[in-house]
Parts: sequence; structure tokens; C-alpha cells
Amino acid sequence: MPAAWPQFPEAKLRAMADMPFSDIVATSLASFFDPDDDVPDGQALAAAMRKAYESFDADETVILRQLDESHYVLELFHGPTLAFKDVAMQALAQLYPWAQDGLTDAGSSRRKTILAATSGDTGGAAIAAFANTVDADIIVFHPKGRISEVQRRIMTTTPGSNISNIAIDDSFDVCQRLVKELFGDPALNEKLDLGGVNSINWVRLAIQASYYFATYARLGKASTFVVPTGNFGDIFAGYAAWRMGLPVLKLVAAVNENDIVHRAISSGDYSSGAVRATSAPSMDIQIASNFERLLFEAMGRDATRLRKVMTDFAASGAISVPADVLTAIQKLFSSGSATGSMTDKMIEQTWRRHDYLIDPHTAIGMVVAEQQRSKGVTGPIVTLSTAHPAKFPEAVARAAGVEPALPDRYADLFDREESLAVLPADVRAISSYILNCQAVRG
Ligand SMILES: *Cc1c(COP(=O)(O)O)cnc(C)c1O
Repeated sequence: MPAAWPQFPEAKLRAMADMPFSDIVATSLASFFDPDDDVPDGQALAAAMRKAYESFDADETVILRQLDESHYVLELFHGPTLAFKDVAMQALAQLYPWAQDGLTDAGSSRRKTILAATSGDTGGAAIAAFANTVDADIIVFHPKGRISEVQRRIMTTTPGSNISNIAIDDSFDVCQRLVKELFGDPALNEKLDLGGVNSINWVRLAIQASYYFATYARLGKASTFVVPTGNFGDIFAGYAAWRMGLPVLKLVAAVNENDIVHRAISSGDYSSGAVRATSAPSMDIQIASNFERLLFEAMGRDATRLRKVMTDFAASGAISVPADVLTAIQKLFSSGSATGSMTDKMIEQTWRRHDYLIDPHTAIGMVVAEQQRSKGVTGPIVTLSTAHPAKFPEAVARAAGVEPALPDRYADLFDREESLAVLPADVRAISSYILNCQAVRG
């Protein structure tokens, strides 16, 4: 967490209306830098961010699409792996060399190993961003059989001896726990110089705050943001933007049947159950890593109090959010959940009414946006569209009756060769596999 929140006055926010998206990202990031540190200057940073977004299919990087008088969809999926994770990951890869070596002695340090757990999209985004830009090995863990085939193929068909895909015979929560355990292994860290790119990486959130700024600048007024949520990262980026001065009506977390975040925000019941597989696999998560950050803020940054609550959660898998903390959270946050059939119906209805195909994650957001409307919420509602519909062709075709077309860059995706290993959820087996790969590569 940043020690202090940078502040963007109204005039600075409005000025973003005329900026390309890459400049908004550079502005947001620079506000977190300490100029006394070895950080890129304004021009170098702006150039790096321009480079990051050259890989996107859309000139504006993110597209705000109006569906009706007051409902907008913010398309975040025009990057190389067709999900919003690209927005932060492409930028993060450009920053990595600075973080690794400082500006002066680039290339001199030990080779890094980047570990990532993925619920389906982070892994592909990390590979696309890092495989060719950074001199590092990339190891991605995904839950076997619990992601879509397009998601898997995007990850496993990128050629490169520095990329390893490991399918774990368990849930995403277990993949995430294993990665945390690997980070906690001093011997492995010493050998491989481990680095992380999951949404616990603060830089990703600082980058993602940019599209909340961009939306405000475009609309010229505050809105309610509905955010399809898994790890609570994307919506926490909205919170960060709000803390930095962005006018926001509400931040609404939208979840599927894995509804821990909805229960926590609506009633304080933060208890994890078994993960259920849904048509929105990137949100099949029961332990939302970034929710801890919100608790920290809502507790007035009382780390002792937070540690006690999180220790209880780790021990029992369930806590109830204290009343004063819940009241603080509910001032800005609201939530809702969507079942599989509600999600399918929304995909079908949006296609029929608006001639517009949405993916299941976005559809969950739109179900919850409609719930907000029927509760009497007024003002603009912006639903974040987190994935391209073609990343989930079976689910979309089943609901809407039409198959979404893959963008040109993936026309031959199903002819490409895949590379992956299947391992048990056992940290010893995994670390010996990793060390072995390392030895083979030399
Ligand atoms: C990762 C992901 C989400 C959830 O984002 P969090 O930051 O984990 O809350 C939602 N939709 C898609 C398509 C994703 O890839």
C-alpha cells in the first residue's frame, strides 16, 4: 500500500479528457514515484507507456461504449490476450527493467523468475507482456480443466524456452496459495530471484486506476462503476482512484455464485466456501486477496487490528466484518451477485436489444448494474467489460445462439502447438520441477 495517497485536483482530472490513455497511465504512475528514487522521468515514462499500448487493437486502448441513456460499458479487452489484465501487464513489463536494475546498470543483475497464479487471464497476459520484453523466466500456474479452452491456448501456445505453464489439479485459490508458499521459500528465492505479477502487485492497481480517471474525464461527471470481481483487484483500483480525488457515486462489486465478496459487503459475512466452477472462471475465487487492503483502509490503517482479523480468517476461513468497518465500507461500496442462468439471459438480451455480444464476466456486471437500477440508483452506470466474448465462445454461443469471432491475431489459435505440465498441488513437487527445468535450461 502507498504510505500516502497522491491527490489529483479537479482541474487535473478534467485535463485528462484531452490526453491519450497512455499519458493518463503515466500521470497516475508518476504520482506514486518518489522523485529522489531512480525512476524514469516524465518523458521516458510517457514513451514507455505509449510503447506498452501499441500492442492493443483499439487506438484509444480502452473504449467507452454507450448502451442506453445512462448505461455505459467500458471495454478493457482490446489487448493481446483479450482481457483487461493486459492493460496493467503490458505497462508493468515496460517498467520491469527499471525496477530490476535501475536506470544505469541495465542487464547486469541476476536472471529473474516471474511466478503467477492465474484464474485464466493473468497468466496469458503475463506471458504476452514479459516473454519477449524482459530477460526472465515465467512460470504460470492455472487450475487444470477450470479455464476456457481459448484462455488455456492463449497461455500455452506462446513459443519460448523461458515460459512454463503448470496445470494444478485443484482450484485457483490453491494455485495462489502455492505461489505464496514458493515466494516464502528462501532457498528457492535465492536461486531464482522470484518476482510476482499478481494483483497483489501494487503497480498493477496504480495503472488500472487510470481507466477510472479516463471515464470521468470523458463523461465529465461522476458515475457508479460496476466491476466484475474475483480477487478484488480491479475494483480496488477504483477505490485508489477515489482516494486520489476522483468523484465516484458508488463502486459496485459484481460476483458469480462464488459470492464471498458480495456477502462481505452486504452483510459482513466474510467466509469462504468451496469454489464452484461457473461460466465466468476468472471470478471463481473464494479468497479475494485485495479485500484485505480495503479492510486496512476501513480500519483507519490500524495494522494491529487488521492482523488480528486476518489471523482469525486464516485459522477458521470465516470472520464477520466488524460493524464500524462495515459501515465505513458501505459508504462507498455496494455489491450484487448473478447466477449462471441470469448471466446467460443477460448475454442473450444484450445481443437481442443492442446487437452487442458480451462475455460472461461482463454479463455478470450488467446483471448487477440492472439490480442497481431497480434499487433506484440514478446517474450514469459504467460496467467494466473485462474480457472479449471470443475468449468464452462456448458460453456465449450457448446463451446468445451466435459464436463470437476471434480477433485476427488468433485466427490460427486452434492449430498452434500447446506446451504444459500437469502437477499435483504439492509445493515440494512443484519446486523440484521448477529447479529441474532451470537446470535443463542452464
Ligand atoms: C481477473 C478477471 C476478473 C476479476 O478481476 P479481479 O481484479 O481479480 O477482481 C474479472 N473478469 C475477468 C475476465 C478477469 O480476467
